[in-house]
Amino acid sequence: MATMFSPALHRQRHQFVIDFVNRNKPKKVLDLGCSECSLLKKLKFNRDIELLVGLDINGAKVKKHMHGLAPLSTDYLQPSYDQLRIELYQGSVTQKDSRLRGFDLVTSIELIEHLSLADVELFSAVVFGYMTPVAVIVSTPNSEFNLLLPGLSGFRHSDHKFEWTRAEFRSWALKVCLDYGYEVEFTGVGQAPQEQQDSVGFCSQIGVFQWLGGRNGSNILLGDEAEDVFSYTLLYSINYPSLRDNNMLRRVLVSEVLYSAEKLMNRWLEEKTGNGDGAATLCQTEGEGEEFLSELCMEVEEQQTVCAEEMKNPVEQCGRSVSDCEKGEYDEVLGTKGQKQQESSTLRRYVSVPLAVLWSCCPKVSALSGSVSNLRHLLMGNPEIKLSQDGSAVLVTHQEEDQEEEGVDNGLEDSRYAEASHYSHSAEQEEEWEANV
Ligand code: SAH
Repeated sequence: MATMFSPALHRQRHQFVIDFVNRNKPKKVLDLGCSECSLLKKLKFNRDIELLVGLDINGAKVKKHMHGLAPLSTDYLQPSYDQLRIELYQGSVTQKDSRLRGFDLVTSIELIEHLSLADVELFSAVVFGYMTPVAVIVSTPNSEFNLLLPGLSGFRHSDHKFEWTRAEFRSWALKVCLDYGYEVEFTGVGQAPQEQQDSVGFCSQIGVFQWLGGRNGSNILLGDEAEDVFSYTLLYSINYPSLRDNNMLRRVLVSEVLYSAEKLMNRWLEEKTGNGDGAATLCQTEGEGEEFLSELCMEVEEQQTVCAEEMKNPVEQCGRSVSDCEKGEYDEVLGTKGQKQQESSTLRRYVSVPLAVLWSCCPKVSALSGSVSNLRHLLMGNPEIKLSQDGSAVLVTHQEEDQEEEGVDNGLEDSRYAEASHYSHSAEQEEEWEANV
């Protein structure tokens, strides 16, 4: 059969579901008999789905393949605003579980023929009567097509309990509609040669059921149907990183701010030392005048005299951040470059990059934060970002080149971090993400 169809029949069945999802944009999708999770792996790329769930009676098979549903590193590095949660359960479609109720779409692809006829009745009651999804897609082999399958005797798979003709499928589907308030349309995938299409139908027959209660209908269950029932075992669950999660938004924003602020600082230094192109402008926005970086950034030195005193007790001092020590005592000193006094080791040099400049020059920063005041709010209290005392600028560690070469200043690490963090997140962050999901 694999060579009979192009694309392969199982791909056509999955593509049928994907096309339906693209047209109907369900938010909660459940795949029954998810097997190796191959349909779920395709559906996870749909941006409208917020909850994607798989159920199969064969937990070992699911466990073997479920890791292919994990987020990729790019999902962490460049998260979007989309939200996606994936859950996988081990259990039987003949049993109720209240966690799988109220879905927008339930798919049952080549599953029912693996059930005894008695279990098909339970399947109908559980899926249509209890789960009451808005739409259900059921596919099953069409036995009338079998005469076109070369060398086939008996069923298409050794585990099949039956294979229905179109009339048998139709009769079951219409009864389901009557019993549980659905309507159905019949179609299929895997076409027969033109002249036989009418006589044998599709290789896989498909029923697309729509609940007559509608999306906002009275899908309310009374009595014990409303109680929580947990008969399935949760095997896997994962929340995809999303910018709607405030922690994730902050992480991405901080990384972007560190990178952009350092870039702006380097351009400012180039302008200042005359190494730049002489007319380096910060950003050119259409319709607005050009702003000169040299007028916006400035050099700042921070006196760490408080810390120096506290160095009498180095144990206590160790591990404290600069901001712990400063208590707002930094001096803004313009034009002090080159003042290498005795206490120079207790001075840290920064370039102050105003948040307004970052916001207007860095599209990613403005898109992530929305406004300058939001930007300040999101950065405040973040240990990786040093803000000026009034909170209007980011202070980027800056050291003279000779110091850099010697590697004396601790700030060397900070500036390298800023660049590295733009490309990858630290192992520590990755661990945290894993723990969070
Ligand atoms: N839907 C899959 C293939 C299905 S094969 C696809 O499109 O690729 C049938 C699957 O149904 C198997 O993985 C089998 O383990 C599962 N299955 C059989 N009986 C079941 C039951 N009672 N409840 C849930 N899953 C069942």
